Amino acid sequence: MVPIRENLVPKDKYAIKCPYTRTPTRVVIHNTANDAPAANEISYMRYNDLEISFHYAVDDVNIVQGIPENRNAWASGDGHGKGNMEGIHIEICYSKSGGEKFDKAEQNAAEFTASLLKKYGWGIDKMTKHRDYDGKYCPHRTLDRGWQRFLSMVKRYMEPAKTPVASKFTPYLIRKNCRDALNIRKGPSTNYGILGQIKDTLRYTIVEERSGPGSHKGWGRLKAGGWIAMDWVKKA
Ligand SMILES: [Zn+2]
Repeated sequence: MVPIRENLVPKDKYAIKCPYTRTPTRVVIHNTANDAPAANEISYMRYNDLEISFHYAVDDVNIVQGIPENRNAWASGDGHGKGNMEGIHIEICYSKSGGEKFDKAEQNAAEFTASLLKKYGWGIDKMTKHRDYDGKYCPHRTLDRGWQRFLSMVKRYMEPAKTPVASKFTPYLIRKNCRDALNIRKGPSTNYGILGQIKDTLRYTIVEERSGPGSHKGWGRLKAGGWIAMDWVKKA
């Protein structure tokens, strides 16, 4: 996730910007209807004396926080209603003109929203939009492009990262297929030291394969320990 930077409203402005402590119950999504980066949106919000505020602004490269999550904001036009009083308000930047920066900002906001939902143990039903509270067509560009689409983006970020399934290796037997003694090395390359040698033509079990310098066919790990160059063996 892109970095989160803090530029919190000074305490002497709490009375204007975020007078109430509360426990948040939801996320409220907005679009800025502007083409400014997140840092500017937050510093402008901090600087003016309007009863307009929001917790986070997200752009293409970072997330900037202006208000602590345990305080209210004046963002969704519903007075002392649930939007203002209980929402964590997220403004997605660059929504006026759209384009690549907005695309990235929206993606970053989806990932960040997913992290908030996870942090609070909330489901996707705790994701709301400004429009739900006072009917304003906000987040305008996100709505134009499809609210369900944005919800799906958030859902994808909530899924645990898929770990690649380790392919199951089936051990097999080999026999030395050269006249000389075959070196057993500490690792899968001729750069590793020699642990011992195979001099006989008995069968040995290979339990892992790797590529590495010094053998065209790669290296095989012996069940008993150590690696041999597969150029000099045949399946048995
Ligand atoms: Zn809004």
